[in-house]
Amino acid sequence: MTDRRQFLQAGALAAGALALPRARAQGSNGARVVSTWDFGVGANQAAWAVLSGGGSALDAVEAGARWAESELCNPTVGRCGNPDRDGVLSLDASIMDGDGRCGSVAALTDILHPVSVARKVMENTPHVMLVGEGAQQFAVAQGFERQRLLTPAAEKAWRDWLKTAQYTREINVERRGRPGDSSNHDTLGMLAIDATGRLAGACTTSGMAWKLHGRVGDSPIIGAGLYVDNEVGGATASGVGEEMMRNAASFLVVELMRQGRSPAEACREAIARLVRKRPEASKTLQVCFLALDKHGQVGAYALHRGFVFAVCDKDRQDDLRDSASVYRSEQT
Ligand code: ASP
Repeated sequence: MTDRRQFLQAGALAAGALALPRARAQGSNGARVVSTWDFGVGANQAAWAVLSGGGSALDAVEAGARWAESELCNPTVGRCGNPDRDGVLSLDASIMDGDGRCGSVAALTDILHPVSVARKVMENTPHVMLVGEGAQQFAVAQGFERQRLLTPAAEKAWRDWLKTAQYTREINVERRGRPGDSSNHDTLGMLAIDATGRLAGACTTSGMAWKLHGRVGDSPIIGAGLYVDNEVGGATASGVGEEMMRNAASFLVVELMRQGRSPAEACREAIARLVRKRPEASKTLQVCFLALDKHGQVGAYALHRGFVFAVCDKDRQDDLRDSASVYRSEQT
């Protein structure tokens, strides 16, 4: 199994100006995939195996998310995720094609690949979202195997947490190269453009560690944690999902791009709105946006420093970049 820190790139660029030159961004076939956080490097590589062979953006983001769900072992995504306050590991995921088709699952338990269940919801049902027990029943009916996912390490972390049962939502700072990982949240959000210019995106997460049983975050909510439109581009989010849900945030980023803003400008404006609406809360929460437009330009912005994102195309497969942010200090 692969640990996220294996993907830390010592020479990764600090990308203050996050929009890449368009000519370079296009590459020879124009395909590109971008993902949140350092584990996005591994997810991008799985997606690139699809894109570089001429595969679709939709297949690529599903492959990338599947990699994170089963091959990455970290406390915030997939099988190694931390559970809720009742010790239950529940997973949220979504997938969206640039043509407007989408599917998602929330509070799904005991199924290894929620992103693939989300795709089945999109392709095999008239619905967009299935939750909880119904989502699991659907998954089993579609041929997914039920399996216990909670790892001994996650169970131990939960039992340790129960000693104080203090619920805080930590802000990730200085993630790179850090020996431990104190984060209690972080989502894989991916956006891809394929050689034909079609876009797609996917999100997968175990959500906030120690959340209330039944809590659903932004990641499976189309328009909050993910939104993609072939006419414009796509956006995805990580951080405290309640903020993205309050603001239909990924949809907002895409709509700002539609109005002419670059991906970086759109992400920055979406973050600025959060700050204007909840200035005090914004100092204690992390929210991060990542966007990719239909030309392959990428941009990001976060409330707090520490957000990194991975970019992969024909010229680079392991490029990890720092996002700009509003606040520079750990807890402002
Ligand atoms: N957005 C996720 C949630 O609220 C967690 C994260 O990405 O940090 O469930």
